[in-house]
Amino acid sequence: MTDLAGRQWDVVVVGGGNAGLCAAITAREAGASVLVIEHAPRHFRGGNSRHTRNARLMNAPGGSSQANSYTEAEYWVDLNQVTGGQTDEGLARMTIRATADLRHWMEKRGVRFQPALTGTLNLSRTNAFFLGGGKALVNAYYVTAARRGVVIVYDAEVRDVCLDGPAVRELTVIHGGERLAVRAKAVVVASGGFQANLEWLKEYWGEAADNFLVRGTPYAMGRVLRSLLDQGVAAVGDPAQCHAVAIDARAPKFDGGIVTRLDCIPFSIVVDRNAERFYDEGQDVWPKRYAIWGRLVAQRPRQIAYAIFDSKAERLFMPSLFRPIRADTIAELGRALDLDVGRLEATVRTFNAAVVPGTFDSRTLDDCRTIGLTPPKSHWARVVDTPPFFAYPLRPGITFTYLGVRVDEHARVIMHDGTPSANLFAAGEIMSGNILGQGYLAGFGMAMGSVFGRIAGERAAIHAHG
Ligand SMILES: Cc1cc2nc3c(=O)[nH]c(=O)nc-3n(C[C@H](O)[C@H](O)[C@H](O)COP(=O)(O)OP(=O)(O)OC[C@H]3O[C@@H](n4cnc5c(N)ncnc54)[C@H](O)[C@@H]3O)c2cc1C
Repeated sequence: MTDLAGRQWDVVVVGGGNAGLCAAITAREAGASVLVIEHAPRHFRGGNSRHTRNARLMNAPGGSSQANSYTEAEYWVDLNQVTGGQTDEGLARMTIRATADLRHWMEKRGVRFQPALTGTLNLSRTNAFFLGGGKALVNAYYVTAARRGVVIVYDAEVRDVCLDGPAVRELTVIHGGERLAVRAKAVVVASGGFQANLEWLKEYWGEAADNFLVRGTPYAMGRVLRSLLDQGVAAVGDPAQCHAVAIDARAPKFDGGIVTRLDCIPFSIVVDRNAERFYDEGQDVWPKRYAIWGRLVAQRPRQIAYAIFDSKAERLFMPSLFRPIRADTIAELGRALDLDVGRLEATVRTFNAAVVPGTFDSRTLDDCRTIGLTPPKSHWARVVDTPPFFAYPLRPGITFTYLGVRVDEHARVIMHDGTPSANLFAAGEIMSGNILGQGYLAGFGMAMGSVFGRIAGERAAIHAHG
């Protein structure tokens, strides 16, 4: 067993996901002794990061020619738009600029890339895709970290980050049935959000939270976040804001990962338990809308909804891991879903009557829309009339929460009175609310975690040597 408590480390990193590993490798490369404390056992290491597929990078992959490159200005416009302006422009722009050399840094530390996946999320110009996905990425980082001499301990939970004013005194860690005091000159917290803590979610969502499915790691309990907020660290972000997508309702409670996400919504009509539509399924291109559907379903009765489409749409999107429910008539489909059949038929009839003919094009904001219907379907609206008919049941799939600790451009954690901590740094989901006031841009989680992980690691090492 690693002797955690018997020495003072230069840098201790809490959490072994993407942000923590970027911090640990950077700090070690700067000469610091580094310990990573990870709550999960070794085979579950990598947190949410092991589920990822890509990162959004300025001047990214497909941008081979200057004219085609994804500029800072465009990245900023996209981010500002999805957050509705609820972002810290200084931190956001700094993050965007720092993604420009990220790919090179990652490749030097073992991450490999592949051509963009195709599908409804058309990201080939803006996002770089990891060969082997996030699992291969975190494995590469763990290998690199170990080779550089980073010490990693699994099955170890940080219960408290004990502060003296704005400085960390020690960490309380549960490991091997023991309660240990771990000391470090500097600490990086990269322990994710609190999305797996259903009791905490209930404080904002009430009983509805019981029906949420957690797409990623069950270890995201927010214990470190709570410990810090209780000791006077400044909070940032709305506690009810999160990244949440609509996923297959048959997915497991935790860790279902990417294969349970449903990208069929733009080509479907979506109804709730009352067999009624409730939102514009074709409002905008899917990468800018997929992350609102978790919240939308969460606000419906019993947090369930159904995406319904006909055979014309069957091959237009990446399917979920589960087969769709199939029927020859809408009535039969309604019975299979245990919906009011008469109402479902009426909803489909009303929708079909409102569809105006257009030229269907799944890759652009086409002119297939409804007229005189509330809510409208603004694009990709086609009559649902060609059997067989299909349905996917949808539940809110929470990815990560946005409530976090406030940081500055050096990733230093800020106290309630505005004082920056000298030796406490944060990276990844735990500080996402600084930039993500609401909304989400595909690939930004990994971009932000990598950028802030590197800054936090560098600054922590500088502090430790100072
Ligand atoms: C299914 C899915 C797909 C996604 N796809 C993408 C994508 O393609 N691109 C993208 O940019 N983002 C994606 N995301 C979001 C992305 O995963 C996160 O934004 C990013 O991985 C966060 O990294 P992190 O290091 O902050 O957190 P994590 O990777 O979750 O790491 C946090 C670690 O901290 C550990 N931990 C927690 N509490 C403690 C404690 N008390 N003591 C010790 N350890 C603790 C956890 O076990 C975990 O290993 C996806 C998320 C999911 C769930």
